[in-house]
Amino acid sequence: MRYSGFKVIKEALTGHRGWTPAWRDPAPQAEYDVIIIGGGGHGLATAYYLAKEFGGTRIAVLEKGWIGGGNVGRNTTIIRSNYLLDGNEPFYEFSLKLWEGLEQDFNYNAMVSQRGILNLIHTDAQRDAFTRRGNGMILNGADAELLSVEQIRKRYPFLNFNDARFPIKGGLAQHRGGTVRHDAVAWGYARGADQRGVDIIQNCEVTGFRIENGVCKGVETSRGFIAAKKVGCAVAGSSGRLMAKAGMRLPIESHVLQAFVSEGLKPVLPGVITFGAGHFYCSQSDKGGLVFGGDIDGYNSYAQRGNLPVVEDVAEGGMALFPGLGRVRLLRMWGGIMDMSMDGSPIIDRTHIEGLYFNGGWCYGGFKATPASGWCFAHLLATDAPHPVATAYRFDRFEKGRMIDEKGMGAQPNLH
Ligand SMILES: Cc1cc2nc3c(=O)[nH]c(=O)nc-3n(C[C@H](O)[C@H](O)[C@H](O)COP(=O)(O)OP(=O)(O)OC[C@H]3O[C@@H](n4cnc5c(N)ncnc54)[C@H](O)[C@@H]3O)c2cc1C
Repeated sequence: MRYSGFKVIKEALTGHRGWTPAWRDPAPQAEYDVIIIGGGGHGLATAYYLAKEFGGTRIAVLEKGWIGGGNVGRNTTIIRSNYLLDGNEPFYEFSLKLWEGLEQDFNYNAMVSQRGILNLIHTDAQRDAFTRRGNGMILNGADAELLSVEQIRKRYPFLNFNDARFPIKGGLAQHRGGTVRHDAVAWGYARGADQRGVDIIQNCEVTGFRIENGVCKGVETSRGFIAAKKVGCAVAGSSGRLMAKAGMRLPIESHVLQAFVSEGLKPVLPGVITFGAGHFYCSQSDKGGLVFGGDIDGYNSYAQRGNLPVVEDVAEGGMALFPGLGRVRLLRMWGGIMDMSMDGSPIIDRTHIEGLYFNGGWCYGGFKATPASGWCFAHLLATDAPHPVATAYRFDRFEKGRMIDEKGMGAQPNLH
């Protein structure tokens, strides 16, 4: 079924009896060409592009819970490509370009909203750093603009411009950045993949790998053994636990990240803003809630919930930037498990086990990467060669000293 405005009107007039399920609920087959583990954004996008762009057939996505129940449905929905380093910027710009055509491509309303993102500048040194970043973005074909205080004041008059500790001195804007309805991304990719014959199998946990003479022959699951010629792992925060079942110890730690949403307000925040002096980022959802977040909780965990010290820290960051926030009631908060890599950048690579491939280390920036990650992982699975924009995302960069340390924090996963 194709979705369109005409179809919505027709169904509204005929009692909504013509809608069919957006994807099937198949039983697992005994064997596939490719198995993708993880029905998050990255796993589903991989299956979609593998079938659509690389002619893949006999593909399954195995998800231990329900699709969209992981980070893809828990994030603060921000997309952007404002990276500095050459290893990252072409990849994230490729992703932003895919976001721009995504809804037409998979025929699903993911509410891609290019409302712009603004990184605020609070010191002269920060202005230098952001000017450099903006130039790096432009050199890689992305858009970037340095805004003056007056320009920012017009759009965001309620910000705390003259705060004694954190005066706002300007900002780096990426007008093509913005937000996307996160769970619709999972549903859109799932529907598109299903239409191309991909089996999406929910409630199917991978519990082990069958590896014979260094070759991966398939996966053990809660629904029995399933054979596969190639297995791609895209389980985000569960990467360490899953790959340990293949005997691998990853350069990744898992940490909790929390997100918050306020009660609904009239339109107040037209774009995404990020505080440059602390860690706080905020946008307004289409329902009116302020959606915001800050730092990770900072201890290793696989729990999908966080603790109060970070709640306090995020609230302090918000109040320093946006004092009116103190009058707003918090509606909900939740947590997700982040796969924090040693240098803050991801890995899309083959493993030392033949037929076993890995995608992870997204830290807390993996939502914006979803389309490019799926495309590049599909490219790797189909051709056994890295996609040109993802050549730096190799396991051996840690061994060879070719870190992609975007924040310059060193081997400190909790600081990326
Ligand atoms: C609070 C929060 C805010 C964030 N904000 C942003 C943001 O604004 N912008 C941004 O770019 N990024 C953001 N992120 C990061 C982003 O959401 C993640 O990096 C990204 O979603 C991870 O990829 P995924 O969608 O594939 O992960 P997930 O949705 O977590 O998918 C992984 C799936 O694997 C499944 N799985 C795990 N183990 C197994 C197994 N053994 N067998 C089968 N299935 C298994 C899980 O159930 C899960 O569904 C945020 C994350 C959080 C938690």
